[in-house]
Amino acid sequence: MAKYLGLVGYPIEHSISPLFQQAALDFYGLDIKYEAWSTPPERLYSAAVRLRHPSTLGANITVPHKEAILPFMDEMAPAAEAIGAVNTVVNRGSRLVGDNTDAQGFLQALRTEAHFEPQGQRVVLLGAGGAARAILYSLIQVGAHSVTILNRTYERAQSLASAFPASKTEIVVMLWETATLAARLRDCTLIVNATSLGMKHSPAEGQSPLPAEAIPSRALVYDLVYNPAETPLLCEAKKAGARTLGGLAMLVYQGAASFELWTGRKAPLEVMFTAARRALGV
Ligand code: NAP
Repeated sequence: MAKYLGLVGYPIEHSISPLFQQAALDFYGLDIKYEAWSTPPERLYSAAVRLRHPSTLGANITVPHKEAILPFMDEMAPAAEAIGAVNTVVNRGSRLVGDNTDAQGFLQALRTEAHFEPQGQRVVLLGAGGAARAILYSLIQVGAHSVTILNRTYERAQSLASAFPASKTEIVVMLWETATLAARLRDCTLIVNATSLGMKHSPAEGQSPLPAEAIPSRALVYDLVYNPAETPLLCEAKKAGARTLGGLAMLVYQGAASFELWTGRKAPLEVMFTAARRALGV
């Protein structure tokens, strides 16, 4: 009997996860189908019921349900508990275990693709949503020197910072366009964009959160947005002479970690990367 995995989110028409996850399942010849389960908020309860069905192995959870799914979990893995959000659900005999592989995917892409070790680094983090939360958690875990958070909604950035009170990493929330921010940007070695600015098919398509003049040439600029591959921020970073990393690698690595949780098999990374790149036409 076929088993099922799915992506629970809304809207998810543009997601490429079903394509590269299915490629990995097919690589092992598994009788498992990974489907896109478009789930508006009022249908989240039905999605949770489906997740407990014996034919369902689990799911990825994406915007806007990463926090809303929490009450349906029977157990939480430590990373999901600390981040306060679930991006992976594993159905273990009708008990739902919530996990979060975003932090792991973020770090793996940073280390493997950009050969960048975040321990001891001065980081500027743009955004304060779900992804920023996972990134702040991972930067604290590895002992970044400092994280300066900037967000359109200042209060949301403050609330993110206060979610991680006791750590050796200095966490500072700043307003845009202040002299202190300019200094922080000058001194930083890593800039991470965890806003949706620049994302294709979004209202902010074509927009960069920073101009080239604000980016120091010695920094690595890491944009979580993966479509387009060359985002407006990465174009600005290149103009500034900085190194760049796009969001595709994180997407594949977080998906690979989910794949391993569901199947217990080593994720075929090359197969997943090839399918993901093909889906995006890069
Ligand atoms: P989210 O929780 O909805 O947060 C969105 C963030 O973007 C918030 O900080 C929001 O600021 C900011 N934002 C949205 N529109 C903006 C605008 N017009 N101007 C300025 N700021 C704006 O979403 P999320 O889950 O954190 O995801 C954020 C981005 O990361 C998305 O593009 C997503 O695709 C990407 N992502 C990539 C990966 C990957 O594996 N590569 C994984 C997760 C997420 P406010 O707080 O002011 O609304």
